[in-house]
Amino acid sequence: MSNQLKGAKFIEELELKDQRVFLRLDLNLPMHKGEISDETRLQAALPTIKYCLEKGAKLVVSSHMGRPKTDEHKKTLSLEPVAKRLGDLLNIEVILIEEPDGEAPKALLRSLKPNQLIMLENLRFHPDETKNGDGLVNSISEYIDIYINDAFGASHRAHASIVGLAKSVKPKNRAYGFLIKKETDVLNKMLTKPDKPFVAVLGGAKISDKIGVIEKLIDQVDSFIIGGAMAYTFLAADNQPTGTSLVEKDKLNFARKLVDRLKVREKNIYLPIDHVVSKSFTDTSSVKTIQIIPNDMMALDIGSKTIKLYQEVLKTSKMCFWNGPMGVFEKQNCEKGTFAIAESLASNNGFNIVGGGDSASAAHASGFADKMSHISTGGGASLEYLQGIRLPGIEALKPPMSSEPQEV
Ligand code: AMP
Repeated sequence: MSNQLKGAKFIEELELKDQRVFLRLDLNLPMHKGEISDETRLQAALPTIKYCLEKGAKLVVSSHMGRPKTDEHKKTLSLEPVAKRLGDLLNIEVILIEEPDGEAPKALLRSLKPNQLIMLENLRFHPDETKNGDGLVNSISEYIDIYINDAFGASHRAHASIVGLAKSVKPKNRAYGFLIKKETDVLNKMLTKPDKPFVAVLGGAKISDKIGVIEKLIDQVDSFIIGGAMAYTFLAADNQPTGTSLVEKDKLNFARKLVDRLKVREKNIYLPIDHVVSKSFTDTSSVKTIQIIPNDMMALDIGSKTIKLYQEVLKTSKMCFWNGPMGVFEKQNCEKGTFAIAESLASNNGFNIVGGGDSASAAHASGFADKMSHISTGGGASLEYLQGIRLPGIEALKPPMSSEPQEV
């Protein structure tokens, strides 16, 4: 069953008026020198925040930010800039609370005004968060009535605010928000009845990270377009020269078999026919485009003929799932292939889904992000969902199985 939300409640099914609502969001925004550099996730969280406020909830919002390990991180990974920006966007007062397990949230909730909300500081500052520890769960559960998860990008993590806390409230008082619904609706459509032709553009560093997704999409897609380092494992499997490019030797067999399986199904797989190559990975100032990769060079992007070929395929596609850059797009002279994919998706008439992570950053860097039909806010969560792996954050919203002890 592809729709993992079945059995969980949607926010609209709950009565929120005057209730103390804990809303877990993914506000892990990219920061640069203390400033927010991309607020996509914050914008994506707004519908659920606004809904809760409109319904008269006493709202506690929360999120993690980065992976804090040292005390210094407490400054660089604070949610303070996010709290300020949220306040500005909604024209409300956002009260940032340092200690989620202290007395402050309880006291504040008693006298919270309609134009105020509470935001908890980066949950990962608390040692229990990533361990799904009881301490944090018990403290927060004392001051909330309702639990809402709308942190799609963190729902593949069994953390305290994602799993333990959800289970600490009665099943009738827990639900998912608008973003989780939107993200999973898109993925469900791809898995069940994609618009045709449906093309999956896969790139990035390794085939091994994408095998589960390839397996899941093999029967849905009309074509795979392959780029990035993973393309060179396919070319090596076909005995083509790959020079010093990244090749996963233990995946050659998989690559060979996949090509055969696609042939049997009369589906296409497009691989690079020319390449942007360099002698060094670090110094890419003197790259060149070439058809046959010399022994002492590595391919760091798809070449111009390949771009043309891929653009032809994408021109007529009605649905596309893009995950992984076509080259080392972070480096000078190696971004053209990736940006060309973004441009093609921006200009065709199809429904185009960008699978989060590096592909989302690439879509933004290309300048075409606002032309994509959907950019996932959760790269890892999307890939797991697509593979049919149950997301702990969604499972925790469902009532316990009848064999488990029932809550009273
Ligand atoms: P992934 O997280 O698997 O989507 O991989 C993204 C990373 O793959 C990016 O950091 C790219 O720089 C890297 N990448 C893309 N193409 C190549 C390539 N031809 N050689 C080495 N790394 C690549």
